[in-house]
Amino acid sequence: MKIHPAEKKSSGMFMRALITTTLVALLALVVVIFLRDGGAPVLKLTPKSDSASYTTVFTLTMNSSRAGLKDCVVIAAQDGKRLEVLHKNFPDKQLEHTETFRLPREAGFKEGPLELSVVVRDNALLSFIGRGKSSLVQNLTLDFSPPRLSVTPGTHNVNQGGSGVVSYTVSKPVEKTGVVVGQHFFQAYQQPGGEWVCYFAMPHTMQPAEFKPKVFASDKADNEAAVSLNVLAIPKPFKADKLNIPDEFLNSKMSQYTALYPTEKTPLDIYKRVNTELRKQNEAQLFKVAQNTSPTPLWSGPFLRLPNSAGRANFGDQRDYFYQGEKIDHQTHMGVDLASVANAPVPAANSGRIVMAEFFGIYGNCVIIDHGLGLQSLYSHLDEISVAMNAVVKKGDVIGKTGTTGLAGGDHLHFGMVVGGLQVSPIEWWDAHWIEDNILTHLKK
Ligand SMILES: [Zn+2]
Repeated sequence: MKIHPAEKKSSGMFMRALITTTLVALLALVVVIFLRDGGAPVLKLTPKSDSASYTTVFTLTMNSSRAGLKDCVVIAAQDGKRLEVLHKNFPDKQLEHTETFRLPREAGFKEGPLELSVVVRDNALLSFIGRGKSSLVQNLTLDFSPPRLSVTPGTHNVNQGGSGVVSYTVSKPVEKTGVVVGQHFFQAYQQPGGEWVCYFAMPHTMQPAEFKPKVFASDKADNEAAVSLNVLAIPKPFKADKLNIPDEFLNSKMSQYTALYPTEKTPLDIYKRVNTELRKQNEAQLFKVAQNTSPTPLWSGPFLRLPNSAGRANFGDQRDYFYQGEKIDHQTHMGVDLASVANAPVPAANSGRIVMAEFFGIYGNCVIIDHGLGLQSLYSHLDEISVAMNAVVKKGDVIGKTGTTGLAGGDHLHFGMVVGGLQVSPIEWWDAHWIEDNILTHLKK
């Protein structure tokens, strides 16, 4: 049978059309699968440090926003020895997951190089051509040697609410070091000679029996060391004080804070929140301000007290607040109130750099001077501030004028001393003998 040329031509066209359609359909399918699979899983391994030990906690964050996660494997390899340190399947095809792991102590790795390989797969349909897989390799140095601390005996006696200092050397570079007192961590600062110096304090709220300061250091590989300080805690009685809050005070003072508490209806309601909430926020803020400090001391000799002034309230006063005979609050007074003439010029208590010069909650117009190593002095209720942020001041330079801003009833200076963000008794820092015996002697060693 002879095929008519036209028929032959038509059959060829049909075949070509069929092939083209199939190819287009296949291509479309591939595009759909590509879109469905999405990109390769995104992974992040922290810490990025190149040192590690058995205490290092690694965090692996995995994300596959379209196909969903399938599994992850982490292998540690050293000298041909390979150990699976993490293997996790994700039957629920979750889109993201965070997993933490450590190198198992029983693995018996030795100090030196170690390679950590991470492979994360998702449920990509095109996995057979290598899609849906991400990996990373982190080269680490294992280090199991904790830093060795050599502590020079520092301050012998620390008063409740008072300060102390210690200096020490550490055998290797450290990530974090300072003095731990209960919940508080006082940062140490390395001096040009290589030694570390740390001011620390005994919080006024801490019972002497609980005061167990420790020098602490941890290195890049998270190896830790701690040495207890042999310091005697001296209990201090704090005075009880009663404060009546008259309407006159509330009516004249609370306008400073109405914008902060717009829902409160009466000046008394605003006051209650200022004296509790805002006071707490301000205290927390001091720890942030303390981070803005010079690594070397900027001060010398005793701190100045406001000239020709009388003490009105002490550090640690236990204040009960009364309104119309009813107790409405209890707080601790964290500085010393000094009254001179109205709008008396306020000298910088010691040399340093201005790290705050603005309205600061309960303190009103406030200046904080940094004296280095986390030691700072605070001047509040100022009528006028005459220094700018970051300005360098010398002991005695006028930084402003006393006033009644913030929670001040009458014109006075509320003066505070701060160690690593914690407010401490200023009296010690005014005392030349105390400074010599408790601070300077130990820094000269
Ligand atoms: Zn005060």
